[in-house]
Amino acid sequence: MIAKRLASAFLALFLTVSIFAAPPPDLIVLISIDQFPDRYLRRFQPYFSEGGFNRLMRKGADFTHALYPYATTHTGPGHAALGTGQLPARSGIVANNWFDRLSGKNEYCVADPRAGGYSPLNLASDSLGDRLQEKFAGSKVFAVSLKDRAAILMAGRKGTAAYWFDRKAGGFTASAYYHSDKALIDAMNKTVPDIVRAHPLWEQSAFIPAADLARITHDPESLRKFKGSHENLGVKFPHPVSGIEGLTYTPFGNELVLGFAERLIDREKIGTDDGQPDILFVSLSSPDYLGHDYGPDSLEAADTVVRTDRQLERFFADLDARFGDRYTVALSADHGVQSIPEVARDMGREAGRVDMRDPKPERKTFGELTAARLQIEKLAAAKLGIKVSDQTPIEKRLILEYEEPALYINWDRVRELKLDGERVKRALRDAALHIKGIGHAFTSSELMIANPNAPGVERAVRNSFRADRSGDVIMALRAGYIWDYGGTGTSHGQPVEDDQHVPVLLWGRGIVPGTYDQPVAPTDLARTLGALVGVDAGGPQSIVLPCVQP
Ligand SMILES: [Zn+2]
Repeated sequence: MIAKRLASAFLALFLTVSIFAAPPPDLIVLISIDQFPDRYLRRFQPYFSEGGFNRLMRKGADFTHALYPYATTHTGPGHAALGTGQLPARSGIVANNWFDRLSGKNEYCVADPRAGGYSPLNLASDSLGDRLQEKFAGSKVFAVSLKDRAAILMAGRKGTAAYWFDRKAGGFTASAYYHSDKALIDAMNKTVPDIVRAHPLWEQSAFIPAADLARITHDPESLRKFKGSHENLGVKFPHPVSGIEGLTYTPFGNELVLGFAERLIDREKIGTDDGQPDILFVSLSSPDYLGHDYGPDSLEAADTVVRTDRQLERFFADLDARFGDRYTVALSADHGVQSIPEVARDMGREAGRVDMRDPKPERKTFGELTAARLQIEKLAAAKLGIKVSDQTPIEKRLILEYEEPALYINWDRVRELKLDGERVKRALRDAALHIKGIGHAFTSSELMIANPNAPGVERAVRNSFRADRSGDVIMALRAGYIWDYGGTGTSHGQPVEDDQHVPVLLWGRGIVPGTYDQPVAPTDLARTLGALVGVDAGGPQSIVLPCVQP
C-alpha cells in the first residue's frame, strides 16, 4: 500500500517536473482569421481535413466559450486585444475610426503621418511582443496581414516589422516606423502576378458534399440581391477573378499572407534554437473582405472556411518541417459577424439596418438627414425646448458627427443655445433609444463614473470606452441589427454573441490538449502565450488559460 502510494507520488512528481522542465517554444505563431465566428468551427468541422483546424481542435486546446468582453468588435480593437491582451479602454483602440475633437477630423486607429501613413502611435499599451523583447534582446516579433491595422496592432510598439498588402498598389508594403526589409517585399511582390494567374475563377470546392450545402447554408436565389460584390466577382458561384484586388475578396487572398509569412521565416531566420523565442503574428483578412459581401450563411462563407482549413493544413505542415515540436500555435479571430439582415429575417429572426450616416457637405436642411438622425434631432429638440423643423439649417443640428458606435455633439450649437451639456447628452441618449434597433445608449458622463456591477452590455460598452476618443453618446444595437452605410451585405461591431464569440485554439509545445468549456476571452491569449515564454503580458482582467501548467 505504502509502496503503491510512494510510486504514485513519484509519478506525480515526475509528471510535474517533466512539465516544468519542458523548454519554452522557440517560436509562437498567433493566427487571427479576420471575421471568423466560433460557430464556423462547429458548423463546418465535419468537412475539415485532419491537419488544419482539426489538429488544433482535436490534438490541442479548444476553448469553446471564448467571447470578447467588449462592445466594439472590429478589426482594430480585436487585433490590439490579441497583440496586447488589453481591452479597448486600455489599448486605446476603441474602434477602427473615431472623431478627434481637437483636429475636428476623423482619426484612423493606425494613422501616423510622420511614419509614412501608419504606425502604432495611437496604441496606448505595451504588447506581448514588447514584453518578449524586454526579456530577450534577440527576440524577433513580426506581423503579416492584408490589413495595415491588423499587422501594426499585433506587432505593437516594439515589433521588429509589420507587413501588409496595399490593394491599390497591388503589393505588400510596410511602415517606416519599423525596420522593414525592402528586398523581401520586392521578392514577394514579384510572385503576386503568378498567384493571381493561378486563380482565374473561384468555384465552389468539393470539400462539402453538395447534398449537405442546403442544410448548412442559407443562400436562396431570391435573396442574392442583398449580397454585396466587389471587383465584378458577382453574387453567385462561379466568381471570375479579374485581378489582384478581386483576389483579396476570395479565400485565395490567404495565400498572399501565408506565402509572405513563409518567406519572412526564411529570410529573418525566425524560430531558431537560440534561447530567444520569436513571435510571428499572421492575420488572414480575406474572410472579412468577402464575409461582408456574402454573409456568414452564404455558400461563399462555407467554401471559404473549408478552403482556409486546407491552407492552414499546408501551413502547419510547413511549420512542422521547419520546427518539429519546437513551436506553439494559437488561433483566434478579431471578431465574428452577424447575418445579412434580410437573410436573418428570411430565417425568422428580427433584424435590420440603422442608418446614422453624417449628411454630405452639400446637404442644407434637417429634412435631408437620414430618417434616424432626423428623428433623434427632433426628439432631443422637443425635450430641450428648441424649435426645429425639416427646414432648419443643417448647421443647427445637435449631432455634429457620427462615428460608430457614437454620436459627437455639436458643442458650438450647445454654447449658442446656452444649454447645459449634460442635459443635451441625456436628451440625445433618450432620443437614440427610440430608434428601432438601438438597444442601449449611454452618455460619456455615465461611463466616466465607475460601475463595477454594470450588467452585460453596459460592461461591454465600458470596456470599449475612453473619454477622449469614444464620443458623447455611445450606442449599442440589438442582436440582428447592423449600422447601415447604404449598401448590401453585412457587418459586425456589436456586443452580441455573433460578433463576440470567436475561436481560441492552442496547439504545440507547452499546451495541454483538451476541450475547455469555461468562459474565457481572446484577451487571455497574450497573457497565456507570455506565460509560455516567461513574460508577464496582458491586462489586469486577463488570465493564463488552463491549458498551460502554472
Ligand atoms: Zn470587417
